[in-house]
Amino acid sequence: MLKIMKQKKLRVDIISVIPEVCVPYTDASILGRAKKAGLLDVHAHQLRDFTIDRQKHVDDKPFGGGPGMVMMVQPFDAAVKFVKTKNKKARVILTSAKGKFFTQQDAKRLSKYEGLIFLCGRYEGVDERVSELLADEELSIGPYVLTGGELPALVMLDAIIRLRPGVLGDAESLVNESWNDGETSEYPHYTRPAEYKGSKVPAVLLSGDHKKIALWRNKK
Ligand code: SAM
Repeated sequence: MLKIMKQKKLRVDIISVIPEVCVPYTDASILGRAKKAGLLDVHAHQLRDFTIDRQKHVDDKPFGGGPGMVMMVQPFDAAVKFVKTKNKKARVILTSAKGKFFTQQDAKRLSKYEGLIFLCGRYEGVDERVSELLADEELSIGPYVLTGGELPALVMLDAIIRLRPGVLGDAESLVNESWNDGETSEYPHYTRPAEYKGSKVPAVLLSGDHKKIALWRNKK
């Protein structure tokens, strides 16, 4: 008898001052399908709901002077404390331009957790104690500076969710993907037509010789 295994759901909480930008992306395509299939649950929280002053300030001037405003540790602390009551075993990730660069190996590692919490900075950045006291790790999506941590959180989530069992229709497509082994990129793809504006599909791919095709792809 065929045994159907129930795949586990990944719960993701995103803490941000603009949580409304996070959810729509997760409703579409593979993430959206993962949600519908009960494999992904995304909650975006307004950081201002966790402030203690009436004006709902999340930032203040930097100690020591300097430009811009720094996000305070207190709202993040209260938000993480609240979210952890719902997402008990979550790994807490602080998005940060100066963090360790996120790689496919990190995506694999993080795809094993039951839950993830993303902390999104804005302005000049966040008080260092967010990293010290609240985050399990501080990750950057590349050597450039974005205006906020929302896109980095979504980029990481996108890379992570497709590695969870049951999310991709054909798990085979993960095997040869770029960076699966940490260093090589995938072979070139072609589809119809076999010739377009004088550019031809490599003859080996039309040969039907699967051994030769595998060799060619390996070489590429
Ligand atoms: N002053 C900071 C610096 O020089 O590193 C940049 C702050 S940036 C304008 C505001 C927030 O966007 C950061 O706190 C972080 O959450 C997010 N962010 C910006 N670039 C990022 C990147 N490459 N990877 C991850 N998060 C990033």
